[in-house]
Amino acid sequence: MNHPLPEAFLSRIQNESFPGLQLIQALDTPSPVSVRFHPKKQKPDFEIRGQVSWCEAAVYLNERPQYVFDPLFHAGAYYPQEAGSMVLDSVLRQLNLATEPKVLDLCAAPGGKSTLIASFLDNKGMLVANEVIQQRARILKENLTKWGYSNTVVTNNDPEDFQRLPQFFDLMVVDAPCSGEGMFRKDPAARDEWSDDNVRLCAGRQKRIVMDVWDALVPGGIMVYSTCTFNSSENEENVLWFIKELGAELVPIELHEPIMKGRNGVGFYCIPGITESEGFYIAVLQKPDETLIRQRNTRKSEFRAQKDALDCGKYADLSEYDLINWNEKLLALPKNYTDSMLHVQAQMRLQKLGTMVGDTSRKGIIPNEELALNPFLNRYKERIELTKEQALHYLRGDTFPLSGEHGYQLVTFQNVPLGWIKHLGNRFNNLYTKEWRIRKQF
Ligand code: SAM
Repeated sequence: MNHPLPEAFLSRIQNESFPGLQLIQALDTPSPVSVRFHPKKQKPDFEIRGQVSWCEAAVYLNERPQYVFDPLFHAGAYYPQEAGSMVLDSVLRQLNLATEPKVLDLCAAPGGKSTLIASFLDNKGMLVANEVIQQRARILKENLTKWGYSNTVVTNNDPEDFQRLPQFFDLMVVDAPCSGEGMFRKDPAARDEWSDDNVRLCAGRQKRIVMDVWDALVPGGIMVYSTCTFNSSENEENVLWFIKELGAELVPIELHEPIMKGRNGVGFYCIPGITESEGFYIAVLQKPDETLIRQRNTRKSEFRAQKDALDCGKYADLSEYDLINWNEKLLALPKNYTDSMLHVQAQMRLQKLGTMVGDTSRKGIIPNEELALNPFLNRYKERIELTKEQALHYLRGDTFPLSGEHGYQLVTFQNVPLGWIKHLGNRFNNLYTKEWRIRKQF
């Protein structure tokens, strides 16, 4: 075998009897394939093997589809996600949260948990999805744009930058970078990168990350802490350290077998061989109540673009949104959160803010891809349904003969919008976002 399990890891599992030898055996079996569906878009016609019992919107598939050649994947109709991570769905549904919570997903790329949180919020509250590595923040932006919710902001900041937003978030998800023991099956290269030293390094970094963002949580706010590793230093010991150093309390959560309780009942595990998933650890903490500092939102009314709202009405249903003019780009922000979103924008390095409806130009609005993919805002009626072959060519950036009216048209596959074209009569300009185009040959 090319990637043997690290000796020190094997002996720890054998000596500690946690999480058990079934894990070792399971690491050489195939990984289960699972996807989570978008609640508001067309479901693909997959061969489903079963339901993921801890996440209603998710299923196991008989085999791994070639996602890149499925137009519905590009349209954000589903998200391929490892099933263990979806335990977050069960956890979120048990929390006693504000009705419209402000949520931070701190270590968010590529966006598995962020898309899950966006579905859970169902357009209520707001989500700041952050990723410290710029290249990964771009992928996060792409995935959240395709998921199509306007109450999202994507930032590219270091955790300590969130100290500029004291007592701002009701809920934080810290899916911390870790030593990745839970990925030993799906990603054999993780075996080569593992070492005891790296476990220690990760545990220290996780402490620093949580310390750095703790002030940004409101008093009584909730932090979900997770990793995809099995050792106690990065999991239970860290959680106990947060309790001791930060005065946090462990929030009781109910998760049923085959999800396992952590050592001494601290948190929960998904374990390959026991749970039908890769490895995952999750625990929930609450910040003690303390005096709430009055929030000061920077209200930026000068950004509001009332005069363009009329032109945009043809493309987007803006009744519950503010239209903001941002460097000649028109952004729709949900009315209730405009001020909070602009406050985040003023403090952080932004990748995405709400939904970009279009660009202003002398000839009127040029509709944007972000609007095409947003099932709540997009109301454009002039649509052209594509065959699968045409859809794949469109997603490659090609043009081809296509009948239709002059002007902007929305192209769809199985009635799910993919993006825009500008029809010129017997040919069209393909407006699909250049960086997202399929490069693989079919
Ligand atoms: N939550 C993501 C999802 O569900 O798709 C997976 C996140 S992954 C486990 C951890 C992320 O933390 C990576 O994207 C990594 O770039 C980021 N990261 C690495 N070092 C970090 C640091 N010092 N502070 C914050 N995030 C960091």
